[in-house]
Amino acid sequence: MAGFFHKSIEFLKGIGPEKAALINKELGYFNYGDLLQHFPFRYEDRTTCHKISSLTDGLGSAQIIGKVVRFETIGVGRKQRLIGKFQDETGEIDLVWFQGIKWIKQKIKPELIYIVYGKPIRYGQRFSLSHPEIEPSGNTTPNKQFLHPVYHTSEKLKRRFLDSKALSKIIKLLLAEAIPHIQDKLPPAIREQFSLIDKKFSLIHIHFPKDQIALKKAQYRLKFEELFFIQLRLITLKLARIDKFKGITFKNSELLNNFYHTHLPFSLTTAQKKVIKEIYADFRSGHQMNRLVQGDVGSGKTIVAFMCMLIAVGNDTQCAFMAPTEILAEQHYHGLKEFAEPLGIKMACLTGSSKKVERISIQEGLDSGELKILIGTHALIEDKVKFKKLGLAVIDEQHRFGVAQRAKLWNKNKTYYPHILVMTATPIPRTLAMTLYGDLEISTIDQLPAGRKPIITRHMRDAQRIQLFSLIEKEIEKGRQVYIVYPLIEESATMDYKDLMDGYESIARRFPQLYLSICHGKMKSADKDYEMKRFTRGETHIMIATTVIEVGVNVPNASVMVIESAERFGLSQLHQLRGRVGRGGEQSYCLLVTGMKLTSEAKTRMQTLVESNDGFRIAETDLKLRGSGDLMGTQQSGALDLIISDLATDGDILNLARNAATDLLKMDPLLRTPENQILKNHIASFNKSTVNWSKIS
Ligand code: ADP
Ligand code: MG
Repeated sequence: MAGFFHKSIEFLKGIGPEKAALINKELGYFNYGDLLQHFPFRYEDRTTCHKISSLTDGLGSAQIIGKVVRFETIGVGRKQRLIGKFQDETGEIDLVWFQGIKWIKQKIKPELIYIVYGKPIRYGQRFSLSHPEIEPSGNTTPNKQFLHPVYHTSEKLKRRFLDSKALSKIIKLLLAEAIPHIQDKLPPAIREQFSLIDKKFSLIHIHFPKDQIALKKAQYRLKFEELFFIQLRLITLKLARIDKFKGITFKNSELLNNFYHTHLPFSLTTAQKKVIKEIYADFRSGHQMNRLVQGDVGSGKTIVAFMCMLIAVGNDTQCAFMAPTEILAEQHYHGLKEFAEPLGIKMACLTGSSKKVERISIQEGLDSGELKILIGTHALIEDKVKFKKLGLAVIDEQHRFGVAQRAKLWNKNKTYYPHILVMTATPIPRTLAMTLYGDLEISTIDQLPAGRKPIITRHMRDAQRIQLFSLIEKEIEKGRQVYIVYPLIEESATMDYKDLMDGYESIARRFPQLYLSICHGKMKSADKDYEMKRFTRGETHIMIATTVIEVGVNVPNASVMVIESAERFGLSQLHQLRGRVGRGGEQSYCLLVTGMKLTSEAKTRMQTLVESNDGFRIAETDLKLRGSGDLMGTQQSGALDLIISDLATDGDILNLARNAATDLLKMDPLLRTPENQILKNHIASFNKSTVNWSKIS
């Protein structure tokens, strides 16, 4: 059965080895199954025809029935074009071809009735259709009653005659052949409960929908199935883990209490307390914890992590705390050392630039068990770093790390898997969290520490620089510090770099009395560090930087964040950058500087930030603007190669699918009953295979 869908597409009529290789390169498809899942990205309504006299500007595409009454060739050589005068009973338009002129002239017969399809453009009084689709109407009438699928293809494929229409023909033949092999993997009970149409029909109508209703039903069924299997798999993984993996039980909270009552310099927010309680409950459960803590920038995740590490240390185990950058790792190290030292807890920091002697001494500390907390970058997960008894691993800013790295931490303790705490500062919409981290428990810190004043965000144009400078000046006079951030994006790095340097110079000219820091990716790590430290210690007034400072950096005295060319940043990234200020008790400002001309999408981004400080709301908008595939970090995780669902718009279906999966596993956690065998086998193949086909076959 599976054999059919795994056949190479080179065996399909109209493809062959050479085109198969090209399709593989351009679209990433190998087999029949892949191609059947190449769903149209839109549909053209060919159910109606237009009369020439009724054509209007801005109509979009139109279908017209008529005759080519004569041809004219205009121009010579490469500029030559062919015009076919096309008439129906109401008027005349021009069909225009710049290429394939000879072939068109031979193919089109003046006595025949044709259906043409294309986008009419008006020149003066006349409409013209350039390179229209054209077919004799006799061939087409019955089939043309459908919504026409339009498929993504590429320029290279089009040059080899694999345009959308050709793909549609190939898929149609393939589908006919595939029908007897298609098995419905959704149990009948679920199909019935959610009124889902049969798999065969859904595939037929996703490619060649009879009408809008059939299309909607097909989409609904396929989306449900896709999301259902993802959820079923994630929840199965979670259940299996809870069942199989015993965690180290931490019952002693003495060290935590000691810190809480005598050393903690502020009172925790209710949200922080709630999350610590949730984690402590996991620690005592006897199961291994896998928990994600979400919290907006500045919500105080670090101290939560630290207090959980105290529980682990108080129960005679060690902790690893992994951060995505050296700057951040060191900042955590210095910040937490102040808390750890009075408690007599030994801590160290391990990064790519740690010297050999340091590494040796760190390893000795880990071996003897004397070193309790190791903070660092991904240098931590190298195989040679060995713990005596790792009890808790914390991963800060998870979106920077892949799932594979999470797994590596797991294996650092051979007798027991360490508890895993993942923290993310990019609030993720619920739908995304459920899909990316559906195998984790999720805690949310949905509150900022008291006394924080909401950051005032303003959108300014380049021309308002005088105002901008005076605000900077005022804040610095009050003793505050300022960030100015420039975009630095790989492809245009030289240009961007110039912007940054120009910016630095103009600031230096404008504020000759001030001390400036500069920080960008081309600098050596030691130099970056040096500049960052000067700024952190308050020795410089302004930090001019690229997004290297984006994540996590904590300088509570900084009160102004200027973002240059703000339109070039994504919404979540802007929110992250903004989160670098507003960390102390002072009123802080975020100034988004853009040019005058903005796309409407960019305007929405600026507007959203000006209106809202709520990371979750911003993340929702970001998801809507960009679609789930594009969100930060999801590309590399590979967890989100959704074929048909869109997490931005299919939240409702996702909820239904998740509930269906949860209910099903409540009744039959190990999928033992005969009617669930099909699901069990399907998930097993899913886990093995990297090819997407397994999701649908
Ligand atoms: P994030 O959640 O973005 O990682 P941090 O953990 O860096 O935030 O915390 C931001 C700042 O808030 C730090 O200076 C931290 O010491 C402080 N902070 C954390 N919790 C509280 C609290 N309950 N009350 C006051 N300040 C707090
Ligand atoms: Mg943080």
